[in-house]
Amino acid sequence: MVRNLRKPLLCLDLEGTLISKAVSQIPRPGLDVFLESVSELCDLMIYTSVSRGRVDRIRDLLIEERVVPSWFEDLPVVHPEGTVKVKALCGRTDAMLLDDQAAVFATGEEDWWIPIEEFLSPYPSDDCELTMALAVIKGAVAARQP
Ligand SMILES: [Mg+2]
Repeated sequence: MVRNLRKPLLCLDLEGTLISKAVSQIPRPGLDVFLESVSELCDLMIYTSVSRGRVDRIRDLLIEERVVPSWFEDLPVVHPEGTVKVKALCGRTDAMLLDDQAAVFATGEEDWWIPIEEFLSPYPSDDCELTMALAVIKGAVAARQP
């Protein structure tokens, strides 16, 4: 049987999802393992309101601290035009978006949302939201297999 082995696209929000805030830049617990695991299942893209220059500085820091794989630097980045993350901007109809904010989804586009609890102060070291998100993403990817 011939199978379509193309990976779906997973867009990743930055603030409150992978890290604390663009200013404090605290990596969420399990970030490295999450990225390595999810990269085997999905093509990845960063979808964030954080400016390109700041995204690059955050990536440099996270790589320097060895809390993300080195290829994190090379992920494509897309920015919403306003506050809403329109799906069409990522360029793929098979995309999912891991994001902590319901408010960024356009009306009628909630079906591409993989929700995750916001990573908030005091930034608990036993936060396991990325592990739980990985399980949800695995399920979503499996459900799409022909
Ligand atoms: Mg966010």
